[in-house]
Amino acid sequence: MTTAYYSFQQHFTHDTGEDHPEHALRILAIEQELKKRGIWPQLDVREGQTANLPDILRAHSPGYVEQLQLIQPQQGHIYVDEDTPMSAGSLEAARYSVGTCTLALDNLLKGQHQNAFAAVRPPGHHAEHRKSMGFCFFNNIAITALRAAEVHYLLRIAILDFDAHQGNGTVDILKNDTRFLILSSFQHPFYPYTHYQVDRYNNLVNVHLDAGTGSEEFRHKIREHWEPALRGFAPELILVSAGFDAHRDDPMAELCLLDDDYRWLGKWINRYCVEKNIPWLAMLEGGYNLNALGRSVSEFIAQMLKR
Ligand SMILES: [Zn+2]
Repeated sequence: MTTAYYSFQQHFTHDTGEDHPEHALRILAIEQELKKRGIWPQLDVREGQTANLPDILRAHSPGYVEQLQLIQPQQGHIYVDEDTPMSAGSLEAARYSVGTCTLALDNLLKGQHQNAFAAVRPPGHHAEHRKSMGFCFFNNIAITALRAAEVHYLLRIAILDFDAHQGNGTVDILKNDTRFLILSSFQHPFYPYTHYQVDRYNNLVNVHLDAGTGSEEFRHKIREHWEPALRGFAPELILVSAGFDAHRDDPMAELCLLDDDYRWLGKWINRYCVEKNIPWLAMLEGGYNLNALGRSVSEFIAQMLKR
């Protein structure tokens, strides 16, 4: 049983323009650091694929998907919200992000891997049922979770999201659906400032982190709030919105996690999955300081290799 690493070349066609923090070098920085640390040869490296439309339509409205196709520019950029540029290749890349995550899911559930990391862009967790936002078009993790439930008939799927920003889109799509437990930690109050950060849903555990929160308090809150909820839920699969922008060096948030906190998170999740003998899949969300991103992902993936 392997740890798989999935990515795809088509993400280069999602051109966010100069000076946008979400760009193709992020994936290259991750791969360069994995190679530098000797982790790369230990991974089962796989190429992603494009998405099936029925998978996307489990999470997004048909009108929304059609509208995105209509507004995609032939050249240059348009902005679908104040933060989210779309170029001629953006939707192709977004479809590959989805398809790569669902391919990784299918292969995990066939028993090909113990766990997998999908280095995808554009990210997905801010995309709501009928709304693009925060660099996201299609909600990769919600689509993957719905496929796990409706194609693979899993009954209990846990979603862990430790990105610095709350995955409002994931909550929008999966709220109150008790096949899914969403465990989320994020800077609060902070972007995306939606009601999902404070409202109560019966399948959502929000962990609010004050600006400046560091390692000790973060780990304490995860142990206190996530761990009992996860154990009580007893998932058959864990999906992770793996955003690395809560790092102290990241320019997009004001949290103060260190490389070692991503080692700790990878170890914590992997130990639970090894103990319960369940598969897990992490997909990239945020992380915008290239050096911190490469190091943090490498610390995280090194723990995925532990058996
Ligand atoms: Zn983020």
